[in-house]
Amino acid sequence: MSYLALYRKYRSQTFDEVMGQRHVTQTLKNALRTGKVAHAYLFCGPRGTGKTTTARLIAKALNCDAAPTDNPCNKCEPCIRITEGRSMDVIEIDAASNRGIDDIKELREQVRYAPTQERYKCYIIDEVHQLSADAFNALLKTLEEPPPHVYFILATTEAHRVPKTIVSRCQRFDFRTATVQDLMQNLRRVASAEGIKISEEALWVIARAANGGWRDSLSLLEQVAAYSSDEEISAQEVNAILGSVELPALFALADAVASRNPGEVFLTIDRLVSEGKEPRRLLTALGGHFRDLMLTIAAYEHAVERFGPELAAQYREQAQKVPPKFLLHAAETLQTAESQLKWSADHRLLLELTLLKLAYEVDGRGQEQQTAPPAVRTQQEAPSAKPAASKIEPRPSVEQTKALEKPPQTTVRPQQRISLEAVLARWHEVRELVRQNSKSLYPLLERT
Ligand SMILES: [Zn+2]
Repeated sequence: MSYLALYRKYRSQTFDEVMGQRHVTQTLKNALRTGKVAHAYLFCGPRGTGKTTTARLIAKALNCDAAPTDNPCNKCEPCIRITEGRSMDVIEIDAASNRGIDDIKELREQVRYAPTQERYKCYIIDEVHQLSADAFNALLKTLEEPPPHVYFILATTEAHRVPKTIVSRCQRFDFRTATVQDLMQNLRRVASAEGIKISEEALWVIARAANGGWRDSLSLLEQVAAYSSDEEISAQEVNAILGSVELPALFALADAVASRNPGEVFLTIDRLVSEGKEPRRLLTALGGHFRDLMLTIAAYEHAVERFGPELAAQYREQAQKVPPKFLLHAAETLQTAESQLKWSADHRLLLELTLLKLAYEVDGRGQEQQTAPPAVRTQQEAPSAKPAASKIEPRPSVEQTKALEKPPQTTVRPQQRISLEAVLARWHEVRELVRQNSKSLYPLLERT
């Protein structure tokens, strides 16, 4: 099933409608207005950020009856032809399926001929990094001396795979992924135009799941709208439809870890799994959750922009329960566990062990954090003791210098590290301990 209808319907038809890429559209508008359009552009950026849309707008602006203009009229014949994708002279090529030397040779032949319908020929080559080396060489020759009636717009999601020789022949623009706030604004506009009733929180879940892509966000909105009834769509519904993990579940799991309470870890996982959450999804989403927690600690303003003020505050509150270093460690550990998912027959066990390990390590890391200040203080005190010593001996001996450089180790307790393998190897002992100490937990463990 294709979910592209909304994206097509709401595709930007003017440069001002292209959202979140003002740094690109402003420059292009100036070039179009002053007649200084480059003959080759390279548009770089993730999928669904508006590269092809912008390329088509250039084609329209160049060929519009009102040209030279930075604002295609969308009413004249050329504009309509290009919008509907039936102009003979605006040629879109998918480099993924036309990557060979012969394809580009053919293109070089065609390029020589004058346009048939429009004033200019525009070649839009998508995913240009897919071209073979020979094809790139052939293309380079055309780019070196483009005929005056031809414009090239190359688009790629992987700019580093485009040869430097090609890049240097093009004017390059980098398209940005949209922020959650950008996407929400657009989703709100489309939802109200389409009469889709949906809560703000639900829009947020969609915007987040779209991962910065305009196209994806609209496809998701469409999927959600197709499944729901006339009532306002809630965040829970969106989560259920998209199969994503609800935020409360992630907060609960992270809380269980942060509270250093292994029992709580088991109970929370048991509750979530019995509610129908998949351990695999929980594991993956929790990795993202810890990354988000880290973001709120590292760059709060950015987090507010991304999550909105309320959620950002909620993230910060949770993040502050553990040492910042632990957040990084947790995100890394979960990412490693995520890569083990495909080898693991029991995803629930993997989730439990990973979180247990983290719950134990919060303490280990916490102690490390607490003991750090005394060590720093000792180092600071050391230089102040120096002047007195220098009266007797002008320079400290090598031994003394070494002693000063070395922070006292005795106060720092060794880190408490438990590898997943170690826990797995002694799982029967863990079970036994739980059996002896917790009657309520043991039945849960028996199922693993
Ligand atoms: Zn026009």
